[in-house]
Amino acid sequence: MKKLQKDEMMQVHGGAGWFWRCGKCKYKSAWHALKSTAQANADAHTSIYGSSHKTAVYYG
Ligand SMILES: [Zn+2]
Repeated sequence: MKKLQKDEMMQVHGGAGWFWRCGKCKYKSAWHALKSTAQANADAHTSIYGSSHKTAVYYG
């Protein structure tokens, strides 16, 4: 399940990329080409929903 993101054009091909996951709502993000993009989105999630929504960034 992949949402269109503005960095979609930079999507890494071959089935690997950066994504983030929220430990609270178990949300798993779409892949991002850049770790910084995934991290920024993860930080935004935490700031919107609160500090109980701890996120972690993964590469996979
Ligand atoms: Zn969350």
